[in-house]
Amino acid sequence: MLKAYFIHIISRLSRIRYHMSDSCIFCRIVSGESTAEIVHRDDQVTAFRDIHPVGPTHILIVPNRHVESVNTLESADEQWMGHIFTVARKIAHEDGISRGGYRLIINTGIDGGQTVFHLHVHLIGGGRMKHPMG
Ligand code: AMP
Repeated sequence: MLKAYFIHIISRLSRIRYHMSDSCIFCRIVSGESTAEIVHRDDQVTAFRDIHPVGPTHILIVPNRHVESVNTLESADEQWMGHIFTVARKIAHEDGISRGGYRLIINTGIDGGQTVFHLHVHLIGGGRMKHPMG
């Protein structure tokens, strides 16, 4: 009982810290209120396995802070955006897909195919890409 209350308080505090949105599923995963298979977490970004993987490796890397999409990025976001790519490299290595290669995708807006409006980079690999881009 006390433990559940403690978890609730900690997740509320981390939401305030990272400007999280109550209704955003990725904010809820970052705060620990929704479950996901987390593969990396640091003070800037969180990475977890996609619930509907399109390949043997399909991981989403998201900023801990709620950022809607590339359309709402500002110059102050450049540091963690760069960090996302070094985290992608690390995870690709850990998942054993570095040598074969992989694809990084950022869908932006409705026409770009974005369905969750919390910026995320898809890291997909583990087989030769078949689908064309665009
Ligand atoms: P996008 O279409 O680029 O916005 O991608 C959103 C991705 O989020 C999709 O590949 C979904 O399968 C994935 N997704 C949605 N909800 C969850 C969740 N609760 N846990 C893990 N992945 C999710």
